[in-house]
Amino acid sequence: MSASTTPASSAIVFRNGLVLTMDDRHTVHDRGDVLVVGQRIAEVGPGLTAPEGATEIDASGGIIMPGMIDTHRHLWQTAMRGYGADWSLTQYFVWYYLEHGKLFRPEDIYAGNYLGALEAIDAGVTTTVDWSHGLQTTQHADAAVDALQAVPGRFVLAYGNLQQGPWEWSASPGFRDFVNRRMVGGGDMLGFQMAFDVPGDPAFPEKAAFEVARELDVPVTTHAGVWGATNDNGIRLMHDHGFMTPRSIYVHAATLSPDSYQRIAATGGSVSVSTESEQSAGQGYPPTWQLRRHSIPVSLSMDTSVWWSGDLFSAMRSTLSADRSREHLDAHAREETVTHHALRAKQVVEWATRGGSRVLGLDSVVGSLEAGKKADIVLLKNDQSPAMAPIIHPYGHVVFQAQRGDVHSVVIDGRLVKHEHRLLGADVAAARARVERTIEYLVSQMGEDAWRQGMNPDVPETKVLDNPYMYTDWESGTERRTAD
Ligand SMILES: [Zn+2]
Repeated sequence: MSASTTPASSAIVFRNGLVLTMDDRHTVHDRGDVLVVGQRIAEVGPGLTAPEGATEIDASGGIIMPGMIDTHRHLWQTAMRGYGADWSLTQYFVWYYLEHGKLFRPEDIYAGNYLGALEAIDAGVTTTVDWSHGLQTTQHADAAVDALQAVPGRFVLAYGNLQQGPWEWSASPGFRDFVNRRMVGGGDMLGFQMAFDVPGDPAFPEKAAFEVARELDVPVTTHAGVWGATNDNGIRLMHDHGFMTPRSIYVHAATLSPDSYQRIAATGGSVSVSTESEQSAGQGYPPTWQLRRHSIPVSLSMDTSVWWSGDLFSAMRSTLSADRSREHLDAHAREETVTHHALRAKQVVEWATRGGSRVLGLDSVVGSLEAGKKADIVLLKNDQSPAMAPIIHPYGHVVFQAQRGDVHSVVIDGRLVKHEHRLLGADVAAARARVERTIEYLVSQMGEDAWRQGMNPDVPETKVLDNPYMYTDWESGTERRTAD
């Protein structure tokens, strides 16, 4: 039976792949099957018997793993994919917060969300937290949810609005109405969080928004420890007022004191690490080396496609590299050598899967390939790629060798949404046309010059150091320096 004609709810069996279950014992089947019946994983292991009529997917030569989980993506910004490649955080704040973020209409939020959501599932990211801080009105919020529901992925809407203080938007009747209309009964396919930051005003105006979150019984996700924006004061205020909970997610948490990490650890919170973002934008050094020392749970995220991609292969690779980079740098400063790395490939694969399911309260639902869990499954297989053989160290292969072009098949909630490298039933052309209209609109509002300028921040002058060796003529052995 051909996969593309299979109805959504029938059985699917992956055959003869290397299975990374990511269960608690990290069971690996060198050659195993994964059977999906309805929405759930029925069985994992070698030589399974599948019901008649099941869709068979040949996974030989490939790796079967749980769908990856991104705990912090500003999906709406996907409409401006790559525009901010050369930005620092300063240009980002000026563009979205101060100057042009308010230009986005509901249809622009839809356009970015829809394209970014498709990008996620195409890259094997089966659950994405949409950190949606462009929701200036509830019409924008409706558009965001409409887009998420038009894509067969698992999502969490993290509601935010960078044009207002959280104490303002969270108090509006429209917000309450939206929550009642759209966020109740979404089950495990559409979760809900509140998304806002705490810059550290001693008057703590964010208190009212935390109280709304408490009343609605929803988690708060917050950009914390962001150099120049949020710091220890925000953490202290949250802690003093009792708003740090096990469900709180601290995004970046890169520039914080040991005291703040202790408060996060003691209250059971977790950190969403966006290494590519932290390295490039300037929130602080990617904090896994600190989080390990405080035993703080980690999940991974890609932040925004205005700079980076929406694939977690980049997150895993950059996070492992940044942690090791820091370890070597610190050791060299002490005249020491790192002979054994603390952070392993297996750990970052765990962060990209179970790390996300745990912090989102979805660990009984997804995150590993185990009988009874909902079937969110990724097959990495690319017979045409020289980089997909040999597969010797499966975790290392996922982190350092594979990439999103190797995502062969994706199952979400038991439904095959990508097969043989093609998204099923997704109108990518329409998604592309929508973001083109958004770009045309933004350019028309800003003017061509401002649009181009926003993309090309000034380059600071590089001061080239004096170099004594430049003055020696190595051929003749004489000094060329004559001026002094
Ligand atoms: Zn962010």
